[in-house]
Amino acid sequence: MPETQPGDRPLAGRHALITGGGRGIGAAVADSLARLGADLTLVGRDAAVLEAKAASIRGTAPCAVSCIVGDVNDEESMQAAFDRAGPVSILVNNAGIAESAPFARIDDGHWDRTLATNLTGTFRCMRIAYPAMAEAGWGRIVNVASTAGLKGYAYTVAYCASKHGVVGLTRALAMEAARTGVTVNAVCPSFTDTDMATRAIANIVAKTGRGEDEALKELAGINPQGRLVLPEEVAETVAWLCLPSSASINGQAIAIAGGEVQ
Ligand code: NAP
Repeated sequence: MPETQPGDRPLAGRHALITGGGRGIGAAVADSLARLGADLTLVGRDAAVLEAKAASIRGTAPCAVSCIVGDVNDEESMQAAFDRAGPVSILVNNAGIAESAPFARIDDGHWDRTLATNLTGTFRCMRIAYPAMAEAGWGRIVNVASTAGLKGYAYTVAYCASKHGVVGLTRALAMEAARTGVTVNAVCPSFTDTDMATRAIANIVAKTGRGEDEALKELAGINPQGRLVLPEEVAETVAWLCLPSSASINGQAIAIAGGEVQ
């Protein structure tokens, strides 16, 4: 049987590093993992955002929370972040960006930024964190991909390519890790109620001249439940994957999308 921790804090004694942990889905993941007892390191580019999130968790959960400024696009910065953080047994690769444009207008900058942050950034953090997890015989890697890692959407070629890459990366390392005690999974949310969705709505308004309500309705309508996914719903799935009792769930790309992807 997999090892378990007593009581309702099954992640007590585990240390989770969350990229982009200061806001949006990453911040919700931080709340969920803290509730389960994990100590946290939040990584992102904005110290004030990270510190504000850490302060809110310290006020409510009995766990240690550290903040490290780091950019997933920068190998040195991320190596330094992991060195400072110390041994990590849970890695949540959540940092990501989304831009949209018609295929013919995607320039190298758009393509490179998107692939570098969403795919190479995820790969880089996994490469740093995985060997010590495998050596320790226990670890959880959860990559925040997207339904755009499972299907195509118009005007998001670079984003879809990056997220399909994250799903492939997840599945491949999961096979390599299968006998080590480390699991590697992805969560694939549909449009989720964060700043990223707000920017997508603003973009639709700017490009089409439609009203905000109409743009929101269009995004929400992609989900059969007719609404945006909540960041907390994504976070609870991430947290479940991190539990000791989820040891057999490996190499999965789990849609959190109200039935949009089956
Ligand atoms: P968000 O509110 O815009 O948050 C993005 C997070 O990524 C921020 O914390 C940001 O931190 C961090 N980040 C971006 N670039 C970074 C970099 N180079 N280095 C370090 N951190 C970086 O969006 P979100 O919705 O929470 O997105 C989180 C993840 O969910 C992304 O991977 C996104 O693709 C995925 N996702 C979102 C949706 C959605 O509709 N919202 C749907 C499916 C998947 P700083 O800017 O403070 O550094």
